Amino acid sequence: MGMDENKRRRNMVLYVLAAFAVYVVLNTFVFPQLKTGTQVEKVSYSDFTTALQDKRVDSLKYTYDSQSEAKYLLKGNKDTVYTTSVPINDTEIWKLIRESGANTSVDIPNESSNMWLYYLLTIFGPILLFMGIGWWLNRRMKKAMGDDGPSMNFGGGFNMGGGLGKSGARIVASKDVGVTFKDVAGQEEAKESLKEVVDFLENPKRYEAIGAKLPRGALLVGPPGTGKTLMAKAVAGEAGVPFFSISGSEFVEMFVGRGAAKVRDLFKQANEKAPCIVFIDEVDTIGKRRDGGGFSGNDEREQTLNQLLTEMDGFDNHKGIVVLAATNRPDSLDPALTRPGRFDRRIPVELPDMRGRQAILELHAKEVKTQPPLDLTVIARSTPGASGADLANIINEGALRAVRMGRTRATQEDFEESVEVVIAGQQRKSTVLSDHEKRVVAYHEIGHALVAASQTHSAPVTKITIVPRTNGALGYTMQVEQDEKFLTTRQEALDKLAVYCGGRAAEELIFNEMTTGAANDIEQATRLARNMVTRFGMSDEFGMMALGTVQNAYLNQDTSLTCAPGTAERVDADVKQMIAAAHARALQVLRENKFKLHELAHYLYKKETITGEEFMTLLKRENPLMKQD
Ligand code: ADP
Ligand code: MG
Ligand code: ZN
Repeated sequence: MGMDENKRRRNMVLYVLAAFAVYVVLNTFVFPQLKTGTQVEKVSYSDFTTALQDKRVDSLKYTYDSQSEAKYLLKGNKDTVYTTSVPINDTEIWKLIRESGANTSVDIPNESSNMWLYYLLTIFGPILLFMGIGWWLNRRMKKAMGDDGPSMNFGGGFNMGGGLGKSGARIVASKDVGVTFKDVAGQEEAKESLKEVVDFLENPKRYEAIGAKLPRGALLVGPPGTGKTLMAKAVAGEAGVPFFSISGSEFVEMFVGRGAAKVRDLFKQANEKAPCIVFIDEVDTIGKRRDGGGFSGNDEREQTLNQLLTEMDGFDNHKGIVVLAATNRPDSLDPALTRPGRFDRRIPVELPDMRGRQAILELHAKEVKTQPPLDLTVIARSTPGASGADLANIINEGALRAVRMGRTRATQEDFEESVEVVIAGQQRKSTVLSDHEKRVVAYHEIGHALVAASQTHSAPVTKITIVPRTNGALGYTMQVEQDEKFLTTRQEALDKLAVYCGGRAAEELIFNEMTTGAANDIEQATRLARNMVTRFGMSDEFGMMALGTVQNAYLNQDTSLTCAPGTAERVDADVKQMIAAAHARALQVLRENKFKLHELAHYLYKKETITGEEFMTLLKRENPLMKQD
């Protein structure tokens, strides 16, 4: 006890002395400087982030409500106030700010005379400082007394006021989102549905007059990268109402109860600002189907979900709060979330079709300098299954390639090459194949291509390459459908199986040997054959009988079998037989065209990359020196 008393007294003296010293220093060196006039300078956002990274920022102030902008002073220069506007989706910024050690608790003026900053600092600065020192000493003392047990302070002392309330939801005024429907290409149906939501927020009377119930929530579902988040932002940009955005993962915290509190807080804020939009991204992280007893998975998540359900039932619909949510795992959502009265509207955001892809490519191509002639249709055609994010990436990779090549504009070739980069990864120059390996890969790829070319139902070959890629492929054969396909016939599927088998078949035929290079082909062939049997009703044995259910429609289309074990055995047998038949057919095609196989493989071996036209010319060319054996 006596020890503690002594310590405390000594600390008090230390505190007063330190505070006094600091005050004197501030008064003589710092404050007078503040009296001089300041100027305001607008800078780009990247200037701001670099300044943060270099830890050059002395102090900063962040505002959200009317305008999302940051003002800051640089170290050693109090005469210039820098301002910059901040994109709302930058979630990294908080970490940057924290790590930069910039002082966030002061006010920074925007007018050129900063007398009031001077007053503010002279009055509150010392108070804050003393409090800070007091807090620090206090903590030190507690530590000395072994009293800092479990009282960890999460995010304590870092509340920057403004819109960053307790819930951590970012409030964004609509005009600052910087995204409107103009920035979303394609996705017409989804946009149409969302426009209605916007309209409802703008003219609620019209809907009430007719007696229509206003939607409470809309759920954007679709594969990753299709623009769900982008569209939600566009809604905010169009609606002209406050927009609260939070990601589902932000709800899931370490301690039980915090997530639920966040939800409560979020809706409280929304209620105050109504009409408004609440956007919950990646809602599946909290909205996962609750387990029925047993292993009670995650109490925290369950509580959070319950709170969300309660809030959604609770809010006054006429106030105009619309809850938008996005997910790419709709089937894992708790049914309670999707029942009427909650997220009753489901807006599918699908992978773009060819026209959609072209529109997205064109939109993003406008952002980079390009060199005509440019034909983005070619790229749209060769990227079936690509998401909006992939396409945006293709354009960007193309621009990067142009820079690497020392050009100032991106060309058609850049974009075409970047399709491969995005699909297959960069060329990997470091992988050096032995001469024999290179030969095997050449035969393997030509095997695929020849089988494809021999069948009327296969998509034309557009490119063959044996340059290794960073994704591990040692070579590949690119086939591009002439037109967009929505249906696949049984014959086309069987032909595809044969093409998958063509690589391995060529290896066997020429080298009488197998390699690991066919692993991916085997995987794809098996998946296709299995789907044909279990989902597409294309097997003789089972006909139109569904034998499996799709687990996750948007992520990998994996099916789980729903049939008796005995049936599963027969499914396997059927799949095996289907692939065996395809393999036999591929072998036969290659045997019949063995000379062409040699000729083309040698050509590919020498050139490493050949186009579809080269392939076709060579294939059709009569070679009198070669006779069929
Ligand atoms: P999701 O939330 O569905 O996973 P995002 O909204 O995050 O996808 O999209 C990622 C990026 O892909 C966007 O920032 C945008 O650049 C691009 N993108 C996706 N879809 C589109 C589209 N329809 N139009 C324009 N750009 C798109
Ligand atoms: Mg998203
Ligand atoms: Zn292959």
